[in-house]
Amino acid sequence: MSLDNTRYPDYSFNMKLTLQIQLLPDTGTAQKLKATIEWFNEAANWLAQKAFERKLSNKFALQKLYYSKLRNLFGLSAQMAIRCIAQAVEAYKRDKSVQPSFRPTAAVPYDQRLYSFKGIDRVSLLTLEGRVLVPMIMGDYQREQFGYAKGQADLVLRKDGKWFLLVCVDIPDGTPIPVTDFIGVDLGTANLAVTDDGETFSGNTVENIRQKMSNLRKSLQQKASKLARQGKRPKNVRRKLSLRSGKESRFRRNTNHIISKRIVEKAKDTGKAIALENLDGIRKNQKKRFRKPQRAKLSGWSFFQLRTFIEYKAKRAGIHVEPVDPKYTSQACAECGHCEKSNRQTQASFLCKVCGHKDHADRNAARNIRAKALCQQA
Ligand SMILES: [Zn+2]
Repeated sequence: MSLDNTRYPDYSFNMKLTLQIQLLPDTGTAQKLKATIEWFNEAANWLAQKAFERKLSNKFALQKLYYSKLRNLFGLSAQMAIRCIAQAVEAYKRDKSVQPSFRPTAAVPYDQRLYSFKGIDRVSLLTLEGRVLVPMIMGDYQREQFGYAKGQADLVLRKDGKWFLLVCVDIPDGTPIPVTDFIGVDLGTANLAVTDDGETFSGNTVENIRQKMSNLRKSLQQKASKLARQGKRPKNVRRKLSLRSGKESRFRRNTNHIISKRIVEKAKDTGKAIALENLDGIRKNQKKRFRKPQRAKLSGWSFFQLRTFIEYKAKRAGIHVEPVDPKYTSQACAECGHCEKSNRQTQASFLCKVCGHKDHADRNAARNIRAKALCQQA
């Protein structure tokens, strides 16, 4: 990840999923469905040939020329003919050097005029012989997301003869996602954040820039006091000084936005909740955990802001944040559980005195944070 981004344009997200719903048509219905997809693909092949021969990639031009032929030759309904034209045109546009071809049982796009759910256990599908009602089965997880199912679907006949409807699901912001696992996040200073899978958000880039800004500020301050001693008014210098400090805090804020966004997106992508050390513990441990130069950094480089950003972005995305007691998270071995101060050799490296487990200290801590959260949940 890059800290060079100076903007964080949009950190709201909608999650798109595909629900795979199994259909259980009886033999007669299955025959109707099969005939429908076979004729649909036959029609798409026929149309793709016309598009290819006449070099036509315009949907409306093709529609004008072939719509009624499609309906008469292949018996497609009005809406199916429209979908068929779109299907052929899209395939031709992808690669105009070859004539597109469709397998006889290739998936057929169903839009909302072609299918509709009847409750949670049946779906009505349009076939060449009119609408059929087909029983369907969903798992618990699918049932939870089902309320958001809408728009485009694909009717699929698998090689093993099973029928599926793949439905697009658009899950809005703030929908609670059931907790099954956590991303453990260790917040620190050298590394601003490390997750239990080892993704590291280094503070180096940020720290260098902070140092530069701080040096600049010092020299400006010296200039100001020199002017003051000479009895001059350091007006310009003062303005420059306040501009500097504004820049620094904006930079810090921006970095925290980028990191927190990434962590929350990661939780969202993996369907996990987030585990963080609780705030009390961090404050209490602050003096113990960090040597003096790092404590100095802490005051300038508040990770409380990062923590707050993670919390509010997670809340907005409906992701649970589990606070855990930070006791021993940096000293315990994430492999065998052995806890000893000297396990942590330096700020950066961890080596278990019992099992020899070796890891980056922050990653080891992040794994402990995840384990604690899992324990609390159980
Ligand atoms: Zn160990």
